[in-house]
Amino acid sequence: MSDVTYFNKKRREIFKYSSAIIGGLALGGLSKTALASSISSGIPEVTESSELIRINYNENPLGMSPKAQYAAYLAIAKANRYPYHDEGLLQRKIAKLHGIDKTNVLMLQGSCEGIRSSFEALATSETQLVIPELTYEGGPKYAKIMGMNIVRVPMLPGFKFDVDGLKKAVHEYTGPSIVYIVNPNNPTATITPADLIEPWIKSKPKNTLFLVDEAYAEFVNDTQFRSVDGLIREGYNNVVLLKTFSKIFAMAGMRIGYALGNADLLRKMANYNTSESLNYCAIEAASTSLDDQEFINYSKTTIDTSRQILISALKTLDLEYLPSEANFLFHRVNVPLVSYQQKMKEHGVLIGRAFPPATEWCRISMGTPEEMIRFTQLMLSFRTKGWL
Ligand code: PLP
Repeated sequence: MSDVTYFNKKRREIFKYSSAIIGGLALGGLSKTALASSISSGIPEVTESSELIRINYNENPLGMSPKAQYAAYLAIAKANRYPYHDEGLLQRKIAKLHGIDKTNVLMLQGSCEGIRSSFEALATSETQLVIPELTYEGGPKYAKIMGMNIVRVPMLPGFKFDVDGLKKAVHEYTGPSIVYIVNPNNPTATITPADLIEPWIKSKPKNTLFLVDEAYAEFVNDTQFRSVDGLIREGYNNVVLLKTFSKIFAMAGMRIGYALGNADLLRKMANYNTSESLNYCAIEAASTSLDDQEFINYSKTTIDTSRQILISALKTLDLEYLPSEANFLFHRVNVPLVSYQQKMKEHGVLIGRAFPPATEWCRISMGTPEEMIRFTQLMLSFRTKGWL
């Protein structure tokens, strides 16, 4: 079979699978009876050969779009050369997508590289990092390396961001601040409405840079969310936006993302990125993915379906959960998380770790709908054993 035939076949299989699952589940998800009846007796059997269900790292279970895989494959033949030209083409494509100039786009190995280089380039030893208490640890991790003071602002009920509290932390400090806003947030998967964030950025608080991380933006359904790329289009120079190909495009292992912002800020950040860090395969796969609207829709719809399956089970189990606007969901557990996590591992499922201070909550990343059915069956059977 030729390569092209192979990739076309794989593509057809994926879409057939997707429509079957989505068609079968779209009508309100699984009922309590449907879920319960799928468990014959006790714990569903997990054989030695069963593959692990990996729903612990917010990865996309679908695999890269077949078109992107093919583009990456073709790129191998060009990889004796540095990919300068094609990186430039991708940078231009991204600029066009966001309606900005190419000087407002900085290519990165992934958004993590942008978190780190923004601190290295734009913070001093006097700069404080202001964050909500429960957010993506990549921010504080790199701030700590830089010796920055980290101010964690407690969450509001429902693990919402206390925007007034964040403002207060900035206002009360005489030195410079970087405010790291993850939207939708990780591990909570909740959004902060644009109407709470945009006016603050637009008010241009003195000595303050906003680093906004929208790794999961493409999964959002809530219309109160709006990307801050609009502010960059409007020319605000106090905000840097981080984007990644790791999530909706299922490219976590390819390592590619980008930052958008004022050209001077990005030039400074670029000094702290390795200049030849992007690889040909990632560049071609990313470029192809941006054009593959069919895959983007498929990725989003599949995650929506998987989330519905999990929500149905959580309702059945009467476990509190937060509204998820990403490819993961945060829910309460009635038992110690460590023992639940260990038991799940013994049954072939890797689930999220503890995220202090929310130690009674568990983060579940979306697997395929099929995996979520197997996982939720296990959840229900765990309840009968008193393990959940
Ligand atoms: N930002 C957030 C909010 C994340 O949750 C993650 C990874 O899970 C990252 C950034 C890292 O993304 P990348 O793979 O682009 O470095």
